[in-house]
Amino acid sequence: MTTDAYSSLKERLEGERAHILEELSAMGADTEEGGIEIASYEGFADSAASTSEKAELLALVERLRETLADVDDAINRIDTGSYGVCEGCGEQIPIQRLEARPQARLCMSCQERS
Ligand SMILES: [Zn+2]
Repeated sequence: MTTDAYSSLKERLEGERAHILEELSAMGADTEEGGIEIASYEGFADSAASTSEKAELLALVERLRETLADVDDAINRIDTGSYGVCEGCGEQIPIQRLEARPQARLCMSCQERS
């Protein structure tokens, strides 16, 4: 495993992070440091026409927030040198999997078990 492979993954993660932040702010969610407050986009969701639209919007924002947390975590793990290790079994996650999903925390077999 080369450091180069990880640095290109880090670039992708940083690109992904910027993209998620853009999407969140386009939806009116607060993306300030320290996490995104649900309260800050409830006002926006209230303007949605129906309850189901509002629920959909909140679910989407929630998914983006979760992905953002995973991406942030992955970037942090690259910086601290613990990236690429499965949190389930402690084995190295195959680079093919990391390339497909750079924010992966688990290897395929642990993912399937979880
Ligand atoms: Zn594993």
